Amino acid sequence: MTTLGVGGRARWFARATDVEEAAAAVKWSGDRSVPLFVLGGGSNLVVADGGFDGLVLQMALGGVDFRANGDATRVHVGAGEPWDEVVAVAVSRGLAGLECLSGIPGTTGGTPIQNVGAYGQDVSRSIASVTVLDRMTGATKVLTGRDCRFGYRTSRFKGEDAGRFLVCDVTFELRAGPPTLAYPDVITELERRRLTAPSPADVRDAVLSIRRGKGMVIDPTDPDTRSVGSFFMNPVVDAAHVPRLTSEGGGRAPAYELPGGRVKIPAAWLIEQSGFARGYEAGAAGISSKHPLAIVNRGAATARDVLALAVQIKRKVADRFGIWLRPEPAFVGFGDDPDVAFLQETES
Ligand code: NAP
Repeated sequence: MTTLGVGGRARWFARATDVEEAAAAVKWSGDRSVPLFVLGGGSNLVVADGGFDGLVLQMALGGVDFRANGDATRVHVGAGEPWDEVVAVAVSRGLAGLECLSGIPGTTGGTPIQNVGAYGQDVSRSIASVTVLDRMTGATKVLTGRDCRFGYRTSRFKGEDAGRFLVCDVTFELRAGPPTLAYPDVITELERRRLTAPSPADVRDAVLSIRRGKGMVIDPTDPDTRSVGSFFMNPVVDAAHVPRLTSEGGGRAPAYELPGGRVKIPAAWLIEQSGFARGYEAGAAGISSKHPLAIVNRGAATARDVLALAVQIKRKVADRFGIWLRPEPAFVGFGDDPDVAFLQETES
């Protein structure tokens, strides 16, 4: 049930197709003091080899419903709907707002958790509201986009309220109109296709082709996609740090300026410059042959193999550049595992 394909079993498993089933599972686990883990598409998870000694609840609530709202269109989507299908149907109606988020695996309910983003778009800009089941009260409530306290690849669901809410559905507000063209990768691909006034569908096609080239679109025939996608987040550091970030040949690291004198550095560059080439092999785990940021299961990897490689990468990058990479996936069933603790450390 995960794209990485490592880890043991769940002690209990339930699949909720409506809010009542989800609430019943929450109550069942609460009444028995059984730990609960809420599963979406399993695309951002590393599960421990010993499995999860509790209830795994898969949120499989369905439904995609379009409604006109003045000059906008509201799209109400059940948490279990595959994300990329939602993007596909939105762009097929000429709606803009999600086109850059094409080819991202997982379910719609997972998108507000980490405020999924790519190529200059993120879901926080189009989310009107999120219906959640509050484990503290057992009741549902509707949170506005503002209530979700979105940040860069984060939200209250990952921060102060981690584990408290189950996302049941998400409502997006989209508009017909020009797509977002923010990143050179996308612009160049559209120019190559000679599309001077691209539609949201054109941008979707371009993004899919870029992502496929990086092994970032799940494809059972492509072993480079047996991963959690990006394993590490792109670090944000003080601008003063940048002159120290040079390659063996003396070249400067790519750096994107953010407000407040901070800069974002591609983790992929730091990893490659620390001696991990694409296609690097570490037993049954390895690095994608298409993207240095993806750790792959080469067939029979265990969670421990994946962690060992991630730890090795984090150590090397910290030694070489003084930057402590942070992992992007969630870790399930590891308890206070020292490797997981190290991966989550922010500094020595
Ligand atoms: P990439 O395009 O090689 O870019 C690497 C880094 O450079 C990213 O941090 C990206 O910022 C930054 N960057 C590139 N062009 C930029 C520009 N014109 N302005 C500002 N920053 C720029 O990255 P990739 O790993 O192949 O990923 C492609 C896209 O998918 C990126 O946008 C990445 O963030 C996104 N992605 C998102 C998730 C997620 O939501 N969890 C997971 C994997 C990848 P940004 O990160 O701000 O885009």
